[in-house]
Amino acid sequence: MKIVVIGGGPGGYVAAIKAAMLGAEVTVIEKKKVGGTCLNAGCIPTKALLASSSMLMNIKEAKDFGINIDGEITADFLSVMKRKDKIVDQLVSGIEFLFEKRGINLVNGFGKLVDKNTIEVTKEDGTIETIKADKIILANGSVPIVPPMFPYDKKRIITSDEVLELSELPKSMLIIGGGVIGCEIGQFFGVLGTEVTIVQRGEQLLPYEDKDIVKQLQRQFKKDKIKVLLNSGVDSCEVVGDEVVSTLSDGKKVNTQYVLVAIGRKPNIEGSGIEELGIELNRGKIVVNENLETNIEGIYAIGDLINTPMLAHVASKEGIVAAENAFGKYKTVDYTTVPRCVYTEPEVAAVGKTQKQLDAEGIEYNVGKFEFRGLGKAQAIGRIQGFIKVLADSEDKIVGASIVGPHATDLLTELSLAVHLGLTVEQVGDVIHAHPTLSEGLMEALHDVHGECVHAA
Ligand code: FAD
Repeated sequence: MKIVVIGGGPGGYVAAIKAAMLGAEVTVIEKKKVGGTCLNAGCIPTKALLASSSMLMNIKEAKDFGINIDGEITADFLSVMKRKDKIVDQLVSGIEFLFEKRGINLVNGFGKLVDKNTIEVTKEDGTIETIKADKIILANGSVPIVPPMFPYDKKRIITSDEVLELSELPKSMLIIGGGVIGCEIGQFFGVLGTEVTIVQRGEQLLPYEDKDIVKQLQRQFKKDKIKVLLNSGVDSCEVVGDEVVSTLSDGKKVNTQYVLVAIGRKPNIEGSGIEELGIELNRGKIVVNENLETNIEGIYAIGDLINTPMLAHVASKEGIVAAENAFGKYKTVDYTTVPRCVYTEPEVAAVGKTQKQLDAEGIEYNVGKFEFRGLGKAQAIGRIQGFIKVLADSEDKIVGASIVGPHATDLLTELSLAVHLGLTVEQVGDVIHAHPTLSEGLMEALHDVHGECVHAA
C-alpha cells in the first residue's frame, strides 16, 4: 500500500514511521523541515530557551545553596539562541535518520491535493512532481492567527515564528495573549532582562486552568518583574519609527520595541487543495470521524488541522491511530487524558477535569491537596513553591489533577495513567512512593482526598 503524508510535524512524521512499520510504501511531503512547528518553531526551541532562563534563575540563587559566584551574572543572548538552534538541528537530523532507516521517501516541496489519490508537489525550483497514493494522511499543522488590527510586519509586530529567531535581546515587548505560548515566551525574555508586559482578556493567565493553580504562576511573574494586565485587551498596534505603539482597551497607549501576537493558531490549509476537493471543514478545521478519516474515504487528517487539542503529543497519537486505521484497523484516541503542560518556572501541568469544570457540570467530587513545601525533597532542592491537587468523583475515581511547582510536567504522568485507567484514589494512594522524592507529594495529595494525609499542615 502507498501512503502519502502531507506535513512532517509531530503528527505527520510519526504517522509516516508507523505506516512504514506496518509495511506501507511511505512518502512524506514537507515544504520546510521535518519536525514541523513543534521541533522548529514551537515545543523544543521554547523549552531550550526556557532551560537557559531557568539556569540563570538557579545561578542567581546559588548563594542560598552555599555557592559563591563572583562577578555579574549575565546571559549572552546570541549564545542562548545558538544553543537552541543546535538542539533543533540535532533533532531534525534524528528524524531524517529515522526516515532513512524505515525507507521513507522525503520530498521537499509544497503538497497540493488534486484528487483522492493524487498530490502535486511544487519544489523550490518551481518544478512539479505528481505523486500517487492509495491513502493520504493530512498533517499540514497550523499557523499563528494575526488579526488585521495588529499589522504583522514580521519585524516589530511578530509571532512565535519570528520571536524564536531574534538576533537581539529586546528592550521591551508587549505580549498579546496570556495562554501557554505568551506565558512561556514572556518568562524567558522577562528573566533575561526584557521589560515584558502580558495583556490578557480574561481574569487570569492560562484561562483553562484553575485559578488557585495559575495564581502561583502569576505570583512568580511578579517576582520576575513581568507586568500582567488582566481583564484588558489590545485594540490596535502601529509601528512608529523603531517602536510599536499599542492602544489598550481602556484607551491607554503602551510603547514597546516589539509586540508579540500570541492569541492562538489556525489550520494551515491555504492553497493545499483541501477545500477544493470538498473535504468538510467546520470553522476552518477539518472534520473527521472517530477514526480520523475525513468525509473523503481514504483521506485522514490529524494534529492541528482538526478540532482536538493543538498539542504535539495529541498530533503524534493521532498520527499512529490514522496510520493504523489506513491499514483497516478501527482505532480511536482517548482525549480525556490529554496532559496540558506549561514549562514556566514554576511549571504547570494538568490532566482530566479541572475543579471549575466539575463545579460547572454539577458533578460531586472530593479534592485532595498537598504543598511542595511539606516535602523533604522539595526543601532539599530549594523548590518549595506550589502544590498538587487531585480530584476524585463520588466513587473515588481520579477524574482530574493539577500541579503547579517543580517538575510538574514530569510528575503528572502517574496521575494521567490513573485517569486513563479509571483508577481510584485508594488504588494509587496505596502505592509506596520513594522517599525523598517529589512524587511523594502525589501520594500525600491522594491521601488528603480521604482526610488521611499524615503530613497535612
Ligand atoms: P505542525 O507541527 O505544524 O507541522 C506541520 C508541517 O506541515 C510543517 O512542517 C509545515 O511546513 C508542513 N506543511 C504544511 N502545509 C504543507 C503543504 N501543503 N505541503 C508540504 N508541507 C506542508 N505543543 C506541545 O505539545 N508542547 C509544547 O511544549 C508546545 N509548545 C509550543 C510552543 C510554540 C511557540 C508553538 C507555536 C506551539 C507549541 N506547541 C506545543 C504546539 C505544537 O507545536 C503543535 O500542536 C504541533 O506542532 C502540531 O503538530 P502537527 O504535526 O499537526 O503540525
